Parts: sequence; structure tokens; C-alpha cells
Amino acid sequence: MPSDPRSEIPPRSGTAFELRKGQTLTVIDVRGEQVADLLAFDREDIHEVISSGRTLDYASRIYLTTGDLLYSNRSNVMLEIVADDVGRHDFLLTPCSKDTFRIIYGDTDPHRGCFGNLAAALEPYGVTEDMIPVAFNCFMNVPVDGTTGELRVDPPLSKAGDTVTFVAHRDLIIGLTACSALQSNNGSFKPIAYEISG
Ligand SMILES: [Zn+2]
Repeated sequence: MPSDPRSEIPPRSGTAFELRKGQTLTVIDVRGEQVADLLAFDREDIHEVISSGRTLDYASRIYLTTGDLLYSNRSNVMLEIVADDVGRHDFLLTPCSKDTFRIIYGDTDPHRGCFGNLAAALEPYGVTEDMIPVAFNCFMNVPVDGTTGELRVDPPLSKAGDTVTFVAHRDLIIGLTACSALQSNNGSFKPIAYEISG
């Protein structure tokens, strides 16, 4: 084991790596108020991927935390949240993208966003853009009006050093970003760190 197992994802970028069954992945908000989009694909068949729709259906809730399971499009458990300092994450909204910045922010030369960063990082594993689903957005704070369903993107509730930890229920390919959208990260772009253990 290296003395410092922590890896850092620079602002507005992303990475991909393998996570074996039984290993834990801790996502760390280094400076606070920074979102990290997380994807998990089955290592043996990358057409199996985490599913927001199935997960929220089975949880009967939209806010997931310690003890909750993240299911795949084939209803297998991919990840389980085993520790959570924050208790507010999003599993409704797609990764930010060129189109997010064009449509919502009016950017004329938009950044590729988490979507482009995930696509690039996962490309060596055979994942193509059309295979990228709604990500589990660690630390993203999306309050929803219970009557109208109207939602907002508010600053994350996470403080510097806060973490959320997952255990893998299968051998997985993980995609992980430091999110690139101003609104999601209270107006500034910060790094994300992660640690794998087990
Ligand atoms: Zn993003």
C-alpha cells in the first residue's frame, strides 16, 4: 500500500478506474461545495450500468444515503453507500455537457463538461457517449418542491473534507469527475479526491 492512497481529480476533469467486488471507494470533497459525478459499469459487460430509474424506484425516495443500494439497468446491485457525511446527493440530473452550457448558460464555446470528461475517461474501456446514463451526483444539492415537482440546483451542503463511501457489489469500471457546472458548485471549480481500499 502506498503511504498516501489518495488520488486527486483536477477541477473540471474526470477519470476512470477499476473497482473490484468488496473494495470501497471514498469520494472526498476536498475544499467543500464541489460535486462529483459517479458512474459504474459492470467490468465483464459494460452494457450493464447504474440506473437512476431502477434505483429510485426500489428506494421509493430520491435522496439516497448510508445503507442505500445503487442498482443497474438489469436490477443487480452495483454499489452500496456505506458512509455519508453529507446526506444530500442527486440521482435525477444528467452529467453537465456542452449542451447543458449552451442551453442553460448560453455559452457560445462550451466546455465539454462531466459528460465529455466521462466519455473520454471511459473510452479506453469501450464505453461510448450513448452508453452514459444519469450519474450519481455526489454532493449535488437538488431540492424538489413536493407539490409541483419544481427543482433547483442549490450549493452543495458538503464542507471541506466531507466524504461519501461506496462498497462495490461486483467488479466495476468507475467513472468519476470534478463537476464543471458553475451552478452545481456554488460558482467555482474545485478538485475532488478519492481513495480505494480493500
Ligand atoms: Zn458536471
